[in-house]
Amino acid sequence: MPSQVKTPRFRKIQSFQLDYAPTTITQYESERTGMRVIVADREGPKINGYFALPTEILDDSGAPHTLEHLIFMGSKSYQYKGLLDKLAGRAYSSTNAWTAVDHTAYTLETAGWDGFAQILPVYLEHVMLPTLTDDACITEVHHIDGEGNDAGVVYSEMQGVQYGSSELMDLRARRLLYPEGVGFRYETGGMLESLRVLTNERIREFHKAMYRPQNMAVVIVGDADHEDLLRILDEFEESIKDDVPGLDAKFKRPFIDSLQPPALRQTYLETVEFPEEDESTGEILVAFFGPSCFDNIQATAVSIIMTYLCGSSVSVIENVMVEKEELASSVSWWWDARPNSIIWLQPTGVATEKLAFVEQRLMSLLKEVASNPLDMSYVKECIQRERRQNKFYAEGNEQYYSQNMITDYLFGNRDGSTLEEIQTMAEYDVLEAWTDEQWREFLRKWISDAHHVSILGKPSQSAAKKLKETEEARLAKRKQELGEEGLAKLAERLETAKKNNEKPIPPEVLDKWPVPKTDSIHFIESSTARSGKAKSLGVPNTSAQNTIDAAPQGLPLFIQYEDVPTNFVHLTVHIGTKDIPTKFKPLLPLFQGNFFNSPVMLNGSRVEFEDVVKQLEKDTISYAIGGAGRLGDSEGLAIQFQVEKEKYETMIEWLRTLMFDVIFDPVRINAAVTKALADIPEAKRDGRDMAYEVDTAIHFIPEAYNVARRTLVKAVYFRRLKKLLESEPDTVLSWFKDLSRSLFTFQNLRILVTADVEKLPNPVAAWDHLASAPGLDPTKDLVPITNPISILSSEGKTPGSFGSVIIPMATLESSFSVSTASGLSSYADPRLPAYLVALGYLEAVEGPLWTAVRGNGLAYGVGFNREVSGGYIQFRVFRSPDASKAIEAARTKVAKIASGEEPLDRHLVEGAMSGVVLSVADDQATMAAAAQQNFVTGVVRGLEAGWNRQLITRVRNVTADEIRKVMTDVILPVFTLGKSNVVVTCAPIMEEGMVKGLSTMGYKTQVRALSDFHEDYGLKGPEGEEEEDEDEYTDENGSGSEGSSGDESMED
Ligand SMILES: [Zn+2]
Repeated sequence: MPSQVKTPRFRKIQSFQLDYAPTTITQYESERTGMRVIVADREGPKINGYFALPTEILDDSGAPHTLEHLIFMGSKSYQYKGLLDKLAGRAYSSTNAWTAVDHTAYTLETAGWDGFAQILPVYLEHVMLPTLTDDACITEVHHIDGEGNDAGVVYSEMQGVQYGSSELMDLRARRLLYPEGVGFRYETGGMLESLRVLTNERIREFHKAMYRPQNMAVVIVGDADHEDLLRILDEFEESIKDDVPGLDAKFKRPFIDSLQPPALRQTYLETVEFPEEDESTGEILVAFFGPSCFDNIQATAVSIIMTYLCGSSVSVIENVMVEKEELASSVSWWWDARPNSIIWLQPTGVATEKLAFVEQRLMSLLKEVASNPLDMSYVKECIQRERRQNKFYAEGNEQYYSQNMITDYLFGNRDGSTLEEIQTMAEYDVLEAWTDEQWREFLRKWISDAHHVSILGKPSQSAAKKLKETEEARLAKRKQELGEEGLAKLAERLETAKKNNEKPIPPEVLDKWPVPKTDSIHFIESSTARSGKAKSLGVPNTSAQNTIDAAPQGLPLFIQYEDVPTNFVHLTVHIGTKDIPTKFKPLLPLFQGNFFNSPVMLNGSRVEFEDVVKQLEKDTISYAIGGAGRLGDSEGLAIQFQVEKEKYETMIEWLRTLMFDVIFDPVRINAAVTKALADIPEAKRDGRDMAYEVDTAIHFIPEAYNVARRTLVKAVYFRRLKKLLESEPDTVLSWFKDLSRSLFTFQNLRILVTADVEKLPNPVAAWDHLASAPGLDPTKDLVPITNPISILSSEGKTPGSFGSVIIPMATLESSFSVSTASGLSSYADPRLPAYLVALGYLEAVEGPLWTAVRGNGLAYGVGFNREVSGGYIQFRVFRSPDASKAIEAARTKVAKIASGEEPLDRHLVEGAMSGVVLSVADDQATMAAAAQQNFVTGVVRGLEAGWNRQLITRVRNVTADEIRKVMTDVILPVFTLGKSNVVVTCAPIMEEGMVKGLSTMGYKTQVRALSDFHEDYGLKGPEGEEEEDEDEYTDENGSGSEGSSGDESMED
């Protein structure tokens, strides 16, 4: 880098250190253009950049969202689609973007400063000076294909969103909250009917109006080199100065210099119907205007009062509506941080016939709370807990900073005064002094006595039918109007656009940017120590191990310690599910749901679940139970606690109580079943998840927890369980006891303690609180962690004979698919580095599959799963107008590359290698993550320490032949007839086309209903009793029909 010649023209507005985390925040402003730079300096391997532009538009055209997509299609000096992402991939970076109702943000995530610094100016030029060609608009936004159907990347994306319950309800609420002329009212993603007529001209206009340096903030969280940063930005400004409006140009700050939303003058209650086959449950959305997000005390008060009302099962709204009266499966809240903020309340899983009643109950309950004294000790606990949590997020979560910094840029004062407020947490001191009367006045003012908007979301079969008919009629009419000639013209126009978009990037252009060195990636070091049975994995030679060995020892529980300089203790307990009797496995989700929500015996007396939760909230920062997927074991369970180090021993006592002194209570189990049942219809609306569930049912054995926890199991099993709970509660209780006994054994627990080990009081022997529980046998050998291969079904071991299955779903407007074949089965497989590079190559943004599928409007996204030891490979298509075409396009592309017909692109290969480096950095982005990664590597996968770093070296040595070979041997089979199976979920209108598409490829096809994949695990309904509404949706058409013969001819 040349040394500096002149001082960059950036003025420092302020720089301050937070008093609760080791982070410094600095704000700069360009004196030339008004561009803002906001940096939060933090240690770690990752640099997270956000380029945020406040954008306001007064229509549903979708210009903000479509522009976001078009930014990536090329810029003034780099007129190549894909250049930016190819460069980013090579520089350990990934790019992304989102469009909200009030802004668009572009993200640049990089491992190490050098890579970030390389991409930054190229990316910024794309944002400020995009090419915005008509050809790009055709493929990326919307077009009519040669068959008369609507397609385009954004169009397909919005197709998957527009008729969902949440979108319909949210939009209706915003129409009632905001009058015309206020930007928050509109759908910035674009309504389908608007996208069909949106012109490139409109998008260009919008860019010109909104995208200028004085309306952009470069927000950076990470280990930034300020001097280098300002030099780069200064040069960038120099390079664009003739193409952007100067500081003196007239500019209105979006939302600030605009019409302000008036207060609501009345309360609205409306019903919104959404298309849905299952009409049993709906949801409710309620919105209130709240205080300004910059009034720190009031804003924090919102969060405290909402936590008090519905933060957990003991908070009043949830406790009454979910736990006691069982009117909803959950009541959640969130808020939109704005000068006129919005507070949202959302009861979900509400019985359709009770929607209106439940809304009234919610409102009356809010009034009731406001008219009686609050539980002030609980209010104080909520305040203290939130303060602890904030401190915790500030240590471990970059989004804590980026969110605050972006919101401040959107709506805050330009002199830095509003951002400066995050320096302290003084607002909590003020709120701790608030009286009962102050809190209730606040509650009345903003919520219980305030005008509001209530939307009842009602599922409707007829809306689904009507939607389908309207869409069919619209398309039929268009096709007729266009005629063959018109269609042919459109097909030709599309082809031209694609060709023009795919102008190849000359290699010498890419060569101008060398792959950055990895020296500037500062990995977080976590050192390991072990005690008890964990020592069988080896005893590390670390100072942490010395500390652990010198401490008083206890029973030989399996404990791995990870030593990092954190202020907190992160605790994870890994629990295998292998020893649970199969017939009880479907109970496990209920068991998890009640784990922290059940009464317990404490010192000989019964403590109700509300008091358990209250005490847990007091003693922890957070606690959770869930699947152990993040620990590398998708069959296991993980219990996690985050606490202050003074609470280390208390937390261990809690574990003992929750595992061994719980009281299984039919009332609590019934509440959990009711909640779970209410969530089923919503879960069954998700096309992607349902495709996965069906795929899982085909390729895994029923004994796998993955299979037993499916929604399609719950749908039958839980309904019958609820009946059994009424007739034979003791039987059900005994099942839960058996389940618990099979989980919590000495030999089935593996513990990870992440802490500043030196400062941990009594690190080893404190665990005797848990390890000495009656019935535990310390002499037993550890139960091995489930080998993923062992849970494959016979079809899963050698996929291919099943063929394909098509499942029409009324809730879908597009299609999803999963193709499965045999894959790698071990981390020790020597092909692993080549496999990772090959997947990275194919999946690269603007890489081969991206251009072949997404670039052709065939799907919003495609990708492979990343399970590398499961013995299978999956190829997935998301939100496609025709998944079979997306699969076909991908297959053709992969076959060409694997055979060598299409040569490997050297730059893309380098990018794929860098991508592996980035993923290693991702896995270790924070102290807690780095520590967890050591556990995954050593304990779950049984690999040697440092395996990940070695992988970086091994990946750099992968050859082109190795890549092609692994594509041929491992990846291509997922597209090969007789070696792969395909599951498709799709809009009913697509059924016929899908059957045709898949049988043309040669797959056996069958059309099935979701209910065909129900499974009851031997739990039968009461004799002679008809099961109500098992949502039979049978469709015999095409059922079992054989496709053309199984030859594997490939045309390309
Ligand atoms: Zn999008």
